[in-house]
Amino acid sequence: MTASRKIVALIVAAGQGNRAGGDAPKQFRIVAGKPVLAHAHDALAAHGRIDAIHVVLGEGQAETARALLGDRAAAFVTGANSRRGSVRAGLEAIAAAGGADIVLIHDAARPFLPGAAIDRLLAALDQDEGAIPVLPVADTLVRGVDGVMGQGVDRAGLHRVQTPQAFRFESILAAHRAWDDAREATDDAQILRAWGRDVMMVPGDERLEKLTYPQDFARAEARLAMACTTRVGMGYDVHRLAPDEELWLGGILVPHDRGLAGHSDADVALHAIVDALLGALAEGDIGSHFPPSDPQWRGASSDRFLAYARDRVTARDGRIEHVDLTIICEAPKIGPHREAMRARIAEILAVPVDRVSVKATTTERLGFAGRREGIAAQAVATLSLPALS
Ligand code: MG
Repeated sequence: MTASRKIVALIVAAGQGNRAGGDAPKQFRIVAGKPVLAHAHDALAAHGRIDAIHVVLGEGQAETARALLGDRAAAFVTGANSRRGSVRAGLEAIAAAGGADIVLIHDAARPFLPGAAIDRLLAALDQDEGAIPVLPVADTLVRGVDGVMGQGVDRAGLHRVQTPQAFRFESILAAHRAWDDAREATDDAQILRAWGRDVMMVPGDERLEKLTYPQDFARAEARLAMACTTRVGMGYDVHRLAPDEELWLGGILVPHDRGLAGHSDADVALHAIVDALLGALAEGDIGSHFPPSDPQWRGASSDRFLAYARDRVTARDGRIEHVDLTIICEAPKIGPHREAMRARIAEILAVPVDRVSVKATTTERLGFAGRREGIAAQAVATLSLPALS
């Protein structure tokens, strides 16, 4: 059900950013070779569930933004003098463009947005009308007057609020329209709350820290320079060939006089890839996530096991660089099905097909594969994971 919701992101990039130093507003400054706004855009676009991105800009900034974003797809909206007014303009533009079920309202100045943070917000919206990412306050808090320490502030129950903030679209639009224009609000969650709705808090992420001061940009450069770590995992699986079974192999139905037997559809190739992905994550094996003893996996399509493994990679903010599969059997011939298998595996993994290799070999009629008693598969998966994860 949730997969069919229309999810639109609204990036607020209308600020002048004068505390960050430099000539350009901070959303247009370059960090690690890419404009801050483009980092924010790409983080949202990389999340598979976001359907469209709208960007709110200050008066006269559209040309700069278009140049910096290049080919990236985004609709531009002209904002207002306040953040609240800019968000309102963005929401009205989304409504005029056909509306949405969910909107993620995000500040361009928080460009490093992990996919897992978006997942947590969207999950909260299954139940609630608004959700915000927060971090606990670890430091002691005090009030100060003219440089002199005053009373301590009890930090129990205090949180630092980040963006994106996620809302049911119709609710936040109505809340903004009902807001008293004479008052200001520093974020949209306050506006939904004032409209009488609860806002759920989900765990935020340190990487979502706002770029405000010059040293924030230097820290972001250093963090990105640490780049990613490469992980390699391997998987191996065997299933028995039996009469009266369909042969599901590499995610497709292959015509053959026998099929693979097992507790699921026994797609030995997808199982090997699942184990390779889980291995690269060091998160156990397919049997520990989908126990053969569990009747709900009987006859299950292995597509869902592979989609699950892909989601585990996404949850770690990882990226699947490459999958190399070898199918070991005497028959059927794999060659005629190779491209269909590659296409299907790439589709499930949500990667370009040139990242998926499918190979096949026989065993010269030796052993169980050679006697056509079963099919074996082995896979190697290469992932990139954030060095900080
Ligand atoms: Mg298996």
